[in-house]
Amino acid sequence: MSEFAQLNPAERILMGPGPSTVPARILQAIGAPTLGHLDPQYIEIMDETCAMLRRVFQTENALTFPVSATGMAGMEAIASNLVERGDEVIVCVNGVFGGRMKDIMERCGATAHPVEAEWGEIVTDEAVAEAVRAHPKAKLVTIVHAETSTGAHQPLEKISKIVHEAGMLLVVDAVTSLAGHPVKVDEWEIDAIFSGTQKCLSCPPGLSPVSFSERALAVIDGRESKPQSWYFDVSMLRAYYSGSGKRAYHHTAPINMIYALREALAIVLEEGLENRFERHRQMHHRLREGLKMLGISYIPKNSLHTLNCVSIPEGVDDAQVRSRLLSEYSIEIGAGLGPFAGKAWRIGLMGHAATQRNVDLFLAALEEVMK
Ligand SMILES: *Cc1c(COP(=O)(O)O)cnc(C)c1O
Repeated sequence: MSEFAQLNPAERILMGPGPSTVPARILQAIGAPTLGHLDPQYIEIMDETCAMLRRVFQTENALTFPVSATGMAGMEAIASNLVERGDEVIVCVNGVFGGRMKDIMERCGATAHPVEAEWGEIVTDEAVAEAVRAHPKAKLVTIVHAETSTGAHQPLEKISKIVHEAGMLLVVDAVTSLAGHPVKVDEWEIDAIFSGTQKCLSCPPGLSPVSFSERALAVIDGRESKPQSWYFDVSMLRAYYSGSGKRAYHHTAPINMIYALREALAIVLEEGLENRFERHRQMHHRLREGLKMLGISYIPKNSLHTLNCVSIPEGVDDAQVRSRLLSEYSIEIGAGLGPFAGKAWRIGLMGHAATQRNVDLFLAALEEVMK
C-alpha cells in the first residue's frame, strides 16, 4: 500500500459551490496531536471555538456550537429539535436547499406548507406575509439566506419581522453566506441558524456551526415528545457545548476538526468581518465585470457575492469547459443543478478562494478554454 503522501492530491483552486480552498494554517492545525474529548485543554479549545463562532454569527446566543457533521446535519439538527410530529411549518423553497428543508421537516413529522419562488428569484415579503396569514398555526418559517443552487441572495430583515409578528420562529440556512456576507443573528432575530465549514470559512467539510435563540430554546424545553434524532438532541448536547452543566460524554467530539474550525475562525476574525465582506463584494464585482466582457450574464437578479450563478453561452460545451479548467488550470467550478443542469455554471468566491489572483486567472482560463 502506498503512503498517503504518494497519493499526492493536487492543489486545486476550488471555485465551485464548496468546498473552497483551505489555507495551509488550517491544514496544519488538523495535524496537531489529538487530545481526549474531556481533556481540560481540549474543553478550553472548544469553548474558545464556540465563543469565536458567536462573534462570526454576531450573536450572544449561549447555545452556539458546531454540530459534528456537514451542513446538512445542521439542517437536520434544527428540524429535529424544533419540530414535533403533527406540527405545521412554513418552508420557503426557491432552489435545492429549500426543497431539502421541506423533505427533512416532513421526515420529522411536520406538515410543511411551501412558499415557492422561481429558481433564481428570492422569496418576497408579501409571499411570506400571505403564508403566515394562511397558516396561523405554523410554528416556524424556514428560509435560505444563500441559495447555493441558484446564487440568489435572500434579504431577511423584513421577513423576520413578519414571522415574529405572527408569533413564529425564524429558521435560516446560512451555509454559503456565513463569513462571506453579513449574517446578524441577534439584530435580525434569527431563532435557529446553521452553516457549514467548507464554504466561506474555508475549512474542510465536516462540521455545521449552529446557533439557537432563547425563544428557540424555550420551544425545545416545552416539547412533549423527545426529538426523533438521538445524535442531534440539543437537550443532551447543551451541557457539553454551552458549559452550562457537567461536561459529560455524549459522542466523541471530532477533535481535530474543531482545531481546524478554531483556526478558520481565527483567520476570519483577524481579517475582520467587515473587511472580509468587503473583499467578497469586490471580488464578486471584479468577476462580474470580467464575465460581462466575455458575454456571460448572471441568472439571479439579487446575486450572492459568494456564489455566482451564470448562464452558459450558446454553443459552449459545458462539460468540456469544466473539465479543461480542471485538467489544464486546476480550477474547479460547479455545474448547474436541477432545472439549471447544462445551462448554468456556479462559480464560488468563498473565503480563501475569493482573491484577485483567482478571479483574474479564472477569467483568463475561461476565455482560453471557450475559444
Ligand atoms: C452546501 C450547502 C448545504 C449542505 O451542506 P453539506 O456540507 O453539503 O452537508 C446546505 N445548504 C446550503 C445553502 C448549502 O450551500
